Amino acid sequence: MLHYAKMFKSLGLALTTRSLRGRLMLGYYAVAVIMLAVSLFFVGELRTLEARVMLGQRASDLFDTVLGIRRFERNYFLHGQPADQVENARYVAAARELLTVHRDSFRAIAAEDKLVALDHLLLAYREKMEAYVAADAAQRGLLEPQVRELGKGLVELAQQMAVSERQQVQSTLGTLRVLLLGMIGALALFVIGLGRALSRQVVQPLKEIEAGVEAIRADRRANLVLASKDREIRSTVDAINHLLQEIELRQRSLMRSERLAALGTMLSGVAHELNNPLSNISTSCQILQEELGESDVMTIRRYLEQIDQQTERARHIVRTLLDFSRDRGFTRQPVPLRALVEQTVGFVREPVPAKRAVRLEIPEDLVVYADAQRLQQVFVNLICNALEAGGQKARIVIGARQIQGAPLPSGLAWGSGCKRSDVQTEISVSDDGPGIAPEILPRIFDPFFTTKEVGHGMGLGLFVVYEIIEEHGGCIAVESAPGVGTTFRIRLPQKAAQP
Ligand code: ADP
Repeated sequence: MLHYAKMFKSLGLALTTRSLRGRLMLGYYAVAVIMLAVSLFFVGELRTLEARVMLGQRASDLFDTVLGIRRFERNYFLHGQPADQVENARYVAAARELLTVHRDSFRAIAAEDKLVALDHLLLAYREKMEAYVAADAAQRGLLEPQVRELGKGLVELAQQMAVSERQQVQSTLGTLRVLLLGMIGALALFVIGLGRALSRQVVQPLKEIEAGVEAIRADRRANLVLASKDREIRSTVDAINHLLQEIELRQRSLMRSERLAALGTMLSGVAHELNNPLSNISTSCQILQEELGESDVMTIRRYLEQIDQQTERARHIVRTLLDFSRDRGFTRQPVPLRALVEQTVGFVREPVPAKRAVRLEIPEDLVVYADAQRLQQVFVNLICNALEAGGQKARIVIGARQIQGAPLPSGLAWGSGCKRSDVQTEISVSDDGPGIAPEILPRIFDPFFTTKEVGHGMGLGLFVVYEIIEEHGGCIAVESAPGVGTTFRIRLPQKAAQP
């Protein structure tokens, strides 16, 4: 009972809800119902066939009995034994009984008048045989051919019935065979069609999901939108969108922690950078105090201007640091590249002051269209890596130029903007450090990949660099060989990335 209740419940589900499971169940039930109908039909047909075979058995019993009549008739005529005559009479009675008992069945293979004729023939035969038994030798000579003639007629009629029955069984079998093959063919076609329709129903939304995920991967879409009304597809899409949100949140938190790490790195540099304007201000103030009564107005004004300039410089440094520490969304704007890099280089002093190691080959007027805060993060990470790899003797060159339609940058390249043909800014950061072994080169942008000792690197620096470049629709390539040094090449589009 419980089983049937469950079955009807899922049938209801299949008919009422828009769900893939429901439709699969519907298909399953359709096939089950058709199979049941076909099976019932064939059970009925087999029963008919069974009845026909039974009838055939009776027709052949009748035929055997008639042959028995003729066998004992011949024996009696040959040997004149009364026992043969008794057997002959018994077979005649048996044949009449068969005919009477199974009259209704025999009507299926012979017309009523034929059955009546057979019965009359049996009666006539019995009478002739009785006359033969009672007759003297002279009469017997006349009666014997008449009995034989009647016996022949009996055999013919019984044989016709048996043959007719055999033919009918064969024709029923033939029809059944054709029906069976036809139904198997139709069922196979139906199941194939159903399977195709269902697989289309399942495969189509999956293909759309695949295309949507690909669009998200290529940054053409932020989340998955699918028109499907199927419950399973909708919940899959919701789950993927939820996952995307989670990834986005985690990525932001990773970025934040990396920014905080960079902020820590920059703080000592900032303190150092602040020292210069502060000591300049202090010196100017001291001179002013000492020479206040003696100096002319022009000299005092010059010192005051210097104090003002140095205060502005210090304020600018503090503002830059504040800007860097603030949690902002991604905003691209024109950024003077050289000034940004110079400032960043001034801030980095870990493990050695970057100012001593870095040479800039960036045109003064080069402007990039980028998020300044994130770009600064890129430079901090790349410069720190180069300094850590090269140590005290590290020499770093940061260059930049505008390019258009250039071939792929040499080395291993990543990012959606690697094949762009419009105007791009190519920035290179090269060092003469120990380089990166070829076997680890393809993995350096992986999150948490590091070759540094525990506590010295989280393995997120280059991952964050890649993420930022990808966010700009740019491209990053690395070329390195042990003992020769490492060059990172970054390409940033001039305009916002087009799909
Ligand atoms: P971390 O600096 O925390 O190890 P990164 O993602 O910044 O993480 O760097 C990953 C790895 O790439 C480093 O551990 C280092 O082995 C290698 N690497 C990065 N930059 C350089 C470089 N300029 N020279 C040599 N190796 C480098």
